[in-house]
Amino acid sequence: MTASRTAAIASATAWFDAGSLQAELKRRVAFPTESQNLARADTLVAYLSDEIGPTVERLGFQWQLWPNPAEGAPPMLFAERHEDASLPTVLIYGHGDVVAGYDAQWSDGRSPWELCAIEGKWFGRGTADNKGQHTVNLAALGRVLEQRGRLGFNAKLLLEMGEEIGSPGLRMACERHAERLSADVLIASDGPRLSSDRSTIFLGSRGAFNFDLDVVLREGAHHSGNWGGLLANPGTILASAIASIPMDGVIGRSSMRGGTAKLLGCGRTPRQGGASGLPYTNEGRKGARSPFRPSNRCVLSRRCARPAGTDTGP
Ligand SMILES: [Zn+2]
Repeated sequence: MTASRTAAIASATAWFDAGSLQAELKRRVAFPTESQNLARADTLVAYLSDEIGPTVERLGFQWQLWPNPAEGAPPMLFAERHEDASLPTVLIYGHGDVVAGYDAQWSDGRSPWELCAIEGKWFGRGTADNKGQHTVNLAALGRVLEQRGRLGFNAKLLLEMGEEIGSPGLRMACERHAERLSADVLIASDGPRLSSDRSTIFLGSRGAFNFDLDVVLREGAHHSGNWGGLLANPGTILASAIASIPMDGVIGRSSMRGGTAKLLGCGRTPRQGGASGLPYTNEGRKGARSPFRPSNRCVLSRRCARPAGTDTGP
């Protein structure tokens, strides 16, 4: 380990122990950045322009707000710290919006907008998604700069404020600014952890694949007769197809044409802890039972390791 790496890690540890991470996160949690609440539009902008912008500026980034190409959707922040064209570029993604606070539902009179520590756990809206993550990432950059005066790579940051409402305009913005966002590696700290006391790094990112299921059997309206009669009922076929989705990335089509269609490559079942050392168990996730079959696949392995076809549409 190089001396500057050791020093940067020591500096990060000391920074954390001094309560600096907690203080930084507390300030960010205090912004009620509910993207589902239209009345918070100004707060969403303020989080970027009053909090994140000045923070990254202190780290030597140049930043700007990108208007959202989707009408009425919140802007995004793009920041860049360029060191040298010969160095690799890291693109960091995060989101500053949170789900609704449900202020009245917090126990013991606590507020979602006030970070509070209870028995080693920090409570506050956004601590685990996603203010905690980007606060850690930005703080890490700060500690490295403190020690080395440089990162050793070029850094770009894209922070959106609409992730919790489906990231309106994100795709369009990425297409529009493809050149500026180009990078050698993407670090998107916004996903599940296998265990709360252990860091998790996934090499890859799960995505969503949207599609329509149509059953087109014949032109016009027809009377199908009792229980379907001679004409196949598209409703029944569709229901059967939807019912067969929650399998390992395989959509059953047996009711339509026979056989199955592979939607996604189907991985092997990850080991249930044990030799892999990965905590694929439901322990500590009280009440979180796997809604899938076969039942030996726990919630974590389904969420983190296996492709899964899950119908979330209307
Ligand atoms: Zn998130």
